[in-house]
Amino acid sequence: MTSSTVEAQQFIAPKFNGATAEKLAKLGIRHAFDLVLHLPMRFEDETHLTPIAHARHGALVQVEGEVVNAEVKFRPRRQLVAQVEDGSGTLVVRLLNFYPSQIKQFRVGARVRLLGEVRSGFFGAEMVHPRCRVVSEDMPLPEALTPVYPTTAGLSQTTLRKLIAEALDYENLSDTLPGALIGRLKLSEFDSAVRFLHNPPPDVSQHALDERTHPAWRRLKFDELLAQQISMRLHYRNRIQQQAPALNGAGALRNEFIGSLPFPLTGAQQRCVAEIGADLGKGHPMRRLLQGDVGSGKTVVAAVAALQAIESGYQAALMAPTEILAEQHFRKLTTLLVAQGVTVVWLTGSLKKKEKQAALESIASGVAQLAIGTHALFQEDVTFAKLGLAIVDEQHRFGVAQRLALRLKGSTNATHIEPHQLMMSATPIPRTLSMSYYADLDVSIIDELPPGRTPVVTKLVADNRRDQVIARVRDACLSGAQAYWVCPLIEESEALQLQTAIDTFETIQVTFPDLKVGLIHGRMKTSEKSDVMARFLANDIQLLVATTVIEVGVDVPNASLMVIEHAERMGLSQLHQLRGRVGRGSTDSVCILLYQAPLSETARARLKVIYENTDGFEIARADLQLRGPGEFLGSRQSGMPMLRFADINLDIDLLDAARDTAEWLIREHPEATRAHLDRWLGNKEEFLKV
Ligand code: ADP
Ligand code: MG
Repeated sequence: MTSSTVEAQQFIAPKFNGATAEKLAKLGIRHAFDLVLHLPMRFEDETHLTPIAHARHGALVQVEGEVVNAEVKFRPRRQLVAQVEDGSGTLVVRLLNFYPSQIKQFRVGARVRLLGEVRSGFFGAEMVHPRCRVVSEDMPLPEALTPVYPTTAGLSQTTLRKLIAEALDYENLSDTLPGALIGRLKLSEFDSAVRFLHNPPPDVSQHALDERTHPAWRRLKFDELLAQQISMRLHYRNRIQQQAPALNGAGALRNEFIGSLPFPLTGAQQRCVAEIGADLGKGHPMRRLLQGDVGSGKTVVAAVAALQAIESGYQAALMAPTEILAEQHFRKLTTLLVAQGVTVVWLTGSLKKKEKQAALESIASGVAQLAIGTHALFQEDVTFAKLGLAIVDEQHRFGVAQRLALRLKGSTNATHIEPHQLMMSATPIPRTLSMSYYADLDVSIIDELPPGRTPVVTKLVADNRRDQVIARVRDACLSGAQAYWVCPLIEESEALQLQTAIDTFETIQVTFPDLKVGLIHGRMKTSEKSDVMARFLANDIQLLVATTVIEVGVDVPNASLMVIEHAERMGLSQLHQLRGRVGRGSTDSVCILLYQAPLSETARARLKVIYENTDGFEIARADLQLRGPGEFLGSRQSGMPMLRFADINLDIDLLDAARDTAEWLIREHPEATRAHLDRWLGNKEEFLKV
């Protein structure tokens, strides 16, 4: 336990009862110092009063007046209705939920100060649920803006303010950063910055506070970003010091494999192969992300890496998020690697008992050199003889814990081998994210598509022009092409999603009596799914009705047309991934996004982005902007506590500065580094295991 934890407990434990402590914990406040860093989400201006007659409708204003009438009404629903007069005009106040104490507040003759939004109601200007305080005639207005804190049910602003004020008195607010650095970067002092934000002085611009551009905000953002950068650097250093097998096999197997491919590797693939190969040859664990847009050819790069492990006497594992994808990898790689005499097994949850037993034994004895599967690969019953490389395909579909579990499969009872890890993703990580949340990873990028691909043409079509789409699908399929028909996404319920898939399938069958139509969805048995995919691959199915189970990885080059129903319901990366299922062969491909009007503003923005862009990086950047990093990543996914104050899209200069500072601080000022991490991450560091 660090000293700050002990202090915190002394501080929090005796003062709060369990309920308050629990509510604070909900806000992430566990230590007294967390209160200091619990900064306002916005500021309210209670420094002046607006005459009721001048209050603009829709504006947040503060008024003060005398209650001239108040009653509890029961129709149309139970509510407290009061009239307040200030000499300039009258305002109706309505409370739909209220406590007896509030009836007392609104007793006739009382003087009240109200803060709220004015609207035009049935009886003229009104405020619904304003913030209300009973005041005396000469009660002064506050001189500063009032901070409003993020809070949770049952914890009032007043309580929070009191606790925070105490913490500001009690806690050590001395600077963690050397004075020279503060001077060089022209930062505010930590102490004055936090005090300023909790108690902004009267003359400050509310705009700079709200937009978080004020120097006080910038100091806190910098500190937060710096803590993140330091922690990432330390992880990196720590990893470099761990032992991993140096996979220095001769290379004959790899060369043979590359030579046996029906195509030469692209320049970008060759570069990635070399980068990964160099890492694997070192004696410490690789954590590398192989990033490449859909269809850029990540799988063969992964296969080369696996062969490097294998020809160095180790096993490799390849994990995919869906059974369809795992099976596709298994089929492809078995075919490709059979000539090299490599033993490949596959393991998913749906294997028959006997098959599973055989696979497990083969993995445990080391006979299996490459194990391909779903998350079944890291379940308890799986033991690897000698796992040297764990590959995670479509890594964004897995959580940190799952990736970690696979890595831990390097341990046998006798020894621990920390395996190398290669993650693959078609969801590119924008630069700002890779500098922040992913700063611990090395990244290889396939920035070139195999030659001969023609970009997919995207069309946006309103649902009332469905007939034209149907005609187009028929023409395409009758002239030898194949098509996907993607069902509407029903996120709320799996049962409903299933029903929608079946309904769509039936409708499509009736619409296209002259085509061979197939159906694939997530609830089918694995054997059924693989049967459908095999028939689609063999062109025995011309039109495949599918749910988003085909979203990742599926590779059927002859499919050149895709229709996505209710495209407006889907997320950007989902649309990009789905669209990536076509455009894999040499014929021109088209993706038709059917949408239902009217579109919400965000749906319109998303569709515009996907319509105008084919580059996954651009799409990811737009996605990040539309959703923010929290949703884009999910903290489960990144394993990092989310940034609370800094916005990596807006604070790029601070992010750059923090990155440049971190390494220097660790090297030159180890004590300051420790203090800074302690202040900012304290108990949260346990999450930082990417
Ligand atoms: P992704 O990066 O989306 O996982 P895949 O590995 O599935 O892409 O590759 C997409 C398709 O491109 C596959 O059919 C694969 O065989 C083919 N491919 C991969 N590399 C090349 C290359 N250098 N030249 C031509 N085709 C390639
Ligand atoms: Mg893939």
